Amino acid sequence: MKHQDYDVIVVGGGHAGTEAAHAAARLGAKTALITMSKSDIGVMSCNPAIGGLGKGHLVREIDALDGLMGRVADIAGIQFRLLNRRKGPAVQGPRAQADRKLYYKAMQQEIFNQENLQVIEGEVIDLLKNNYKLLGILLADGSKISAASVILTTGTFLRGVIYIGSVSKPGGRVGNSPSIKLAERLSEFDLTLGRLKTGTPPRLDGRTINWDVLQSQPGDEDPHMFSFLSNKPTARQVSCGITHTNQITHDIIRENLKKSSMYGGYLDGIGPRYCPSIEDKVVRFSDKSSHQVFLEPEGLDDNTVYPNGISTSLPIEIQEKYVKSILGLEGVKILQPGYAIEYDYIDPRGLTDSLSVKNIDGLYLAGQINGTTGYEEAAAQGLVAGLNAAKHATGRSEIYFSRAESYIGVMIDDLITRGVSEPYRMFTSRAEFRLSLRADNADQRLTPVGVKIGCVSEGRASKFDIKMTHMKKAVNKIEKLTFTPSELFEKGIKIKQDGKRRDGFSLLSLQDVDFVKLISLRTELGNIPRDIQLQIERDALYKTYIKRQENDVATMKRDEALKIPVTLTYESIVGISNELKTKLQMVRPATLGHASRIDGMTPAALTLLLAKIKQFNKKTVLL
Ligand code: FAD
Repeated sequence: MKHQDYDVIVVGGGHAGTEAAHAAARLGAKTALITMSKSDIGVMSCNPAIGGLGKGHLVREIDALDGLMGRVADIAGIQFRLLNRRKGPAVQGPRAQADRKLYYKAMQQEIFNQENLQVIEGEVIDLLKNNYKLLGILLADGSKISAASVILTTGTFLRGVIYIGSVSKPGGRVGNSPSIKLAERLSEFDLTLGRLKTGTPPRLDGRTINWDVLQSQPGDEDPHMFSFLSNKPTARQVSCGITHTNQITHDIIRENLKKSSMYGGYLDGIGPRYCPSIEDKVVRFSDKSSHQVFLEPEGLDDNTVYPNGISTSLPIEIQEKYVKSILGLEGVKILQPGYAIEYDYIDPRGLTDSLSVKNIDGLYLAGQINGTTGYEEAAAQGLVAGLNAAKHATGRSEIYFSRAESYIGVMIDDLITRGVSEPYRMFTSRAEFRLSLRADNADQRLTPVGVKIGCVSEGRASKFDIKMTHMKKAVNKIEKLTFTPSELFEKGIKIKQDGKRRDGFSLLSLQDVDFVKLISLRTELGNIPRDIQLQIERDALYKTYIKRQENDVATMKRDEALKIPVTLTYESIVGISNELKTKLQMVRPATLGHASRIDGMTPAALTLLLAKIKQFNKKTVLL
């Protein structure tokens, strides 16, 4: 293979693969997306929904970097809800119920219309390499395709096995073959593989649900879109239904636990703790007599309903029995049974912060293959791997997302330093700087970064510039307006009567002052567009807290800047436990910051490590 067919090859057309291929192509890399079937592109394997707590933050960040998921979900959205509405903006998560077909169609259009991007159908069965350098891939039909960078985004397909009760069969997800040969080949590499599992509920025929007896859950009246480019939903909006499991449901499940694939000992991979099966819920929360079930329509012209909350691997006849014991579902018809899937994942501690494999030049991994679960987690990794694979292929330096600046950075850092002991999903609690990493300010944090990287379109960049100009002008104006304590008191704002004037921006940081109140003090502020008013209000609310975090952010950045030499050995550090040395050797952290977050790391061990790095660097300089 003398010439290179492509700069970047992306294997897999799921959420990670599409985002990776699109990002690489946006950076100008000649990109091929290879997937088993073209019809894989835009498929939602499990629930027809995007976003949620923590996950919504990731989608906004992907969008801020001009990725696909947010825009596509906005086109497909048939119900938008901002979760945690009653809590502060930092922990609110945008979520949308999606019409599967609209999502599929919009994603296909984005991929097939993207410049520099070609889609190839085929199964990748091998990676071609020369010692530690990746050269390309081999397809099942024998053809070889070369590239400088290859990204694997094979999701749940590596040695995937589908389980329903005691019956199992190989599969990447229902209706798809697994990827066996590639998994076998990967296990020959210097990578650690493990098994994880996940499950999905039975799909129901909406025409056989008694909606009249169920609680209805409409979307928000003021829908929050994912993309900073979208204004309002374009698809017809619908409500979901809410029902509950009951004691009879739980009794049926309990009596048949041994028949469940997960509980009957048929599969041993570790499942997602935060997305448990109904069997798990009945066992783990045995004191609860009922669990909520959301009945989510899968589309506007589709009668399929996704019962969110009852994923299962019980035999079909038991699924029929327990589902029919639930209010409103007494006469329901199951269109597709629920099932569990077990698959190989690769220990992400073998990756760098660019998602490249440490000991194979040019190989990147993204998505569920790295032990995560969820579309959003997969897409965010895909974006990072796509950008870095393109940079690597075209000889430019790679990009690193810090945990101080993005949820994307938090996730990647968690994965590469701590690995996974169960399928990893994003939560706001994972981010120590969550007050500044809000979903509402993702564009302010990341669009300028994306412009620098070169992955943001001119249209988005100029829309962002206009917004920021409006914001700056408005903030300037508000900061210049000052008010006496007595004037504020008259408007019902409780403030110390110390004679000191307060400016408008600092007033907005008080719990009981919002922009509407500010307008009641100075009516001319009413001319500021409403979206800008709300953004300023949120920024002002968190300003004091964020200021307090600045020292911690600075310390983290300093530690991140201190690189650990690749050739440094840990055995000779006196005073560090053998267990910690083994962990350091396995993770091989790139920076002191990474090392500080390894499980079991202590301040004392970190000081010893710092001394060792300094000693090593001094010696190297002398040599
Ligand atoms: P996928 O979306 O799985 O895409 C993998 C792609 O790789 C496919 O296009 C496939 O054709 C392609 N591929 C694989 N091997 C090869 C090969 N050798 N050559 C060429 N192409 C290949 N997430 C949740 O958040 N909550 C849940 O409850 C949940 N439940 C799930 C239940 C089931 C049964 C399944 C299957 C998934 C579930 N998920 C759930 C996970 C969610 O679907 C994934 O996290 C997400 O789709 C992962 O995206 P990905 O891009 O990594 O992989």
